[in-house]
Amino acid sequence: MSESRSEVSAIEGTVVRANSGLYEVQTAAGNFICRLRGNLKKELIRPESDSLRPRVQKARRRRVTDPVAVGDRVILHPEVAVIEEVLPRRNALRRPAPHTGDQHTLLANLDQAVIVFSTIEPRLDLWQLDRFLVAVEAAAVDPLLCINKIDLVPAEKVQEALSVYRRLGYEILFTSAVDGQGVDELRCRLQGKISIFCGPSGVGKSRLLNAIQPGLNLRVGEVSPVSGKGRHTTSQVELLPLENGGWVADTPGLRQLGLWDISPQELPYYFREFEPYLGQCYFADCTHQREPGCAIRAAVAAGAIDERRYRSFCQMQ
Ligand code: GDP
Ligand code: ZN
Repeated sequence: MSESRSEVSAIEGTVVRANSGLYEVQTAAGNFICRLRGNLKKELIRPESDSLRPRVQKARRRRVTDPVAVGDRVILHPEVAVIEEVLPRRNALRRPAPHTGDQHTLLANLDQAVIVFSTIEPRLDLWQLDRFLVAVEAAAVDPLLCINKIDLVPAEKVQEALSVYRRLGYEILFTSAVDGQGVDELRCRLQGKISIFCGPSGVGKSRLLNAIQPGLNLRVGEVSPVSGKGRHTTSQVELLPLENGGWVADTPGLRQLGLWDISPQELPYYFREFEPYLGQCYFADCTHQREPGCAIRAAVAAGAIDERRYRSFCQMQ
């Protein structure tokens, strides 16, 4: 086969599942189970850099061990089922490997994280919401807040508590997986994107997914607080295709986004409202807790930073 002939037959697709060196790739021509081209793996092992904001990049250079992850856009040759090339990633959700500290990529090219909370049962816990927001900001993924169970408590009742988030530019959708309010809009917001659903247990993530598309929640299992494992035998990420295009990424471990690996030095960058004041404290290594001349504390005192959000930050340190 000549060079130009093989270029013509190469097609682009998205890795929807990965297992023991085999990758399932969804393309416009159907799904293919592929291997990697022989020397591709070596070429792709590289220092971590692409998903992090410049200021925190330096502190976090570690080896990234997996060359291809679920969510990667790839070029493949369907007739031989080989991945030829991996296109540059927009971002990556990573977790350190237990022993080596090398970074393991859970998911590439994630477009948004739908952070689901409920109005009640369980009650809307803003301290916990802040932790999810920090995890999503650290992953450089767009958050979409989804407040579910508005059939139990009307949206107006929680607007006031959420106004601080709206002022910070976080988008908020109100839904009920039971009576269907807001579900069409949420479905639209997922179209053509790779999304994850995260949030505490019991807020209605599974039921919402099922309201968006019946059957979508089938694979989804609760995380056992003891073992940290779901009821499924595999904890690997899988992209579940949406009928209107796009995917919901699911694995039990992803649903409770952890504050993995976030150092006290980088934490302030994940509170959006701190940004204008960072670098303005009297001490360059200010922890924004007790030091004199702290620009963050001054902004809290002046009412420019919400005090409860500031206390949330102190709790996470
Ligand atoms: P998950 O742990 O976040 O996946 O939550 P589930 O989807 O399992 O839902 C937890 C409980 O809340 C179940 O009993 C659901 O039937 C219920 N639930 C989910 N969404 C809603 C909703 O919008 N309104 C009401 N009233 N109940 C809901
Ligand atoms: Zn300070």
